Amino acid sequence: MRSKSSLGQNFLKNQRIVGKIIAFSRVEQGDAVLEIGPGKGALTGALLKSASRVVAVEKDDRLFELLKNQFSDQPGLTLVHGDVLDLDISTLVPQGTKVVANLPYNIATRVILRLAEMSPPPASMAVMVQREVAERICAPVGHSEYSALTVLLSGVFLCDPGFVVGPKNFFPQPKVDSQVIRLVPRQDSLPPSERDAYRRVVLCSFAQRRKMLRNSLLGLPGMTKQGLSDLARHAGIDLQKRPQDLSWEDYARIGRAYRQIIAS
Ligand code: SAM
Repeated sequence: MRSKSSLGQNFLKNQRIVGKIIAFSRVEQGDAVLEIGPGKGALTGALLKSASRVVAVEKDDRLFELLKNQFSDQPGLTLVHGDVLDLDISTLVPQGTKVVANLPYNIATRVILRLAEMSPPPASMAVMVQREVAERICAPVGHSEYSALTVLLSGVFLCDPGFVVGPKNFFPQPKVDSQVIRLVPRQDSLPPSERDAYRRVVLCSFAQRRKMLRNSLLGLPGMTKQGLSDLARHAGIDLQKRPQDLSWEDYARIGRAYRQIIAS
């Protein structure tokens, strides 16, 4: 069966790495797990041994048929045929589900952001992504890789940068390194009611990465120069700073101040 690069099909072929991912995910008996893109079942089989229930979503018609045959006698497994981006995930899995996946690279960030929007979010996510995406997600404040993606996810999750997996562990081999990261919801995560304003502020700030916030934040809908100085005062932020110098808590305060300003 030819693999489809359009579906990010790089299959894990090293059982040692499979074991390492399962251990890193901290999945245990009693857990429900969501796997996105089970492919030929490398992780699925191992997950079925560790967890009580696995829901696996596969888009590829041929792989879905293959999985149905391969796992026909596994009562703990629900196979779902579809595009994960078109599905309402919260209807497929119970609250408290853990996500474990070797994500298709072309949609990895979209999938992670979608999962972060769930309320409540998954209990944890151990996901394999391109190394450069992992570096962006886990970057500390001020780092060159610190980005809108970092901040959007930081409002919900703490990131464990996990470990790097080289191309030789896959068939076909990707051109780049991969990394397995683990995201766990923070205790003090941003309340759902604040997420929309937070998202707008973060995206607007990083749209012009090199500019000072006093220039970029003027692009927010409804923002004026007076509004901007009110916002700086309410949020306690120095508008001479650039987007990569602010923590997610700073953005949370700006988001709250922005909501107040446009409501008044
Ligand atoms: N889990 C397998 C492994 O580790 O060997 C396969 C991982 S492979 C990187 C990504 C898998 O995601 C492929 O099986 C691919 O067909 C599937 N996939 C790609 N896009 C998808 C989508 N939008 N929804 C669900 N599955 C998708």
